[in-house]
Amino acid sequence: MTSHPHPAQDATITTRTAQGCEDSSLCGLHPTALAEHSSRRSFLQMTVRGTVAGLTAAAAVEFVAPRPALAQSTLSPDAALQELLDGNKRFTAGRLTACEHDLDVLKQHTIEKQEPFAAVLSCADSRVPVELVFDQSIGHIFVARIAGNIATSEIIASLEYGAGVLGTKVILVMGHGGCGAVKSTIQAKSVPGQISALYPHIRPAVDQAGPNLEAATKANAKIQAALLRQASTVISGLVKENKLKVAAAHYDIGTGTVSLLE
Ligand SMILES: [Zn+2]
Repeated sequence: MTSHPHPAQDATITTRTAQGCEDSSLCGLHPTALAEHSSRRSFLQMTVRGTVAGLTAAAAVEFVAPRPALAQSTLSPDAALQELLDGNKRFTAGRLTACEHDLDVLKQHTIEKQEPFAAVLSCADSRVPVELVFDQSIGHIFVARIAGNIATSEIIASLEYGAGVLGTKVILVMGHGGCGAVKSTIQAKSVPGQISALYPHIRPAVDQAGPNLEAATKANAKIQAALLRQASTVISGLVKENKLKVAAAHYDIGTGTVSLLE
């Protein structure tokens, strides 16, 4: 049973999957255990079972004591960042709570509007499932994903929308271990199609940090975060008013841990 307050969840009609969650879905599964699942088939079967369990439990909505209201509008940027880090702690501890949220209720509550408390700029890499890593569900985080987690014009536009219109309180730029986009940029390999269009965005990090993959990946996350703070008048304005925080982080794909870089 969870007790942590959740920003985007209604304080009075919290629902949970009393039986199904812990034993038959991704909940409670340690990240390393997840990694050990050798076949895609078994992973999908687990996910489907979890969904069915969630739907079954949805039929029996459980009313629980109201938790402290933590509406997005009341969160400070630091509190929003902490909420992400707390979610990551639950993920690494194998104590996920997002799957205890009633997805039907969350969907109903977000049909008219969304109020994500945080935005995450992450790599497209399949080993970085952002909502799962931060133990979040529908309507909670605004996620922009692109190989190399680079701040292109379109990505900046998306994050400006998240912060300026939807009111996200933090933007976390998250690089990760074993990033193929950074590795390719270091190697400057000839690649098919338009893949090399990523290189110019990542090159400054490689120039700064050298050919070490982890160092370049961390430098890249910091550079993209700095770019967001400087290149966007919307974001820089909100940062100056202390309404928004932009931070850089690194995700360890082996341990599941997110570490702040600044
Ligand atoms: Zn990557």
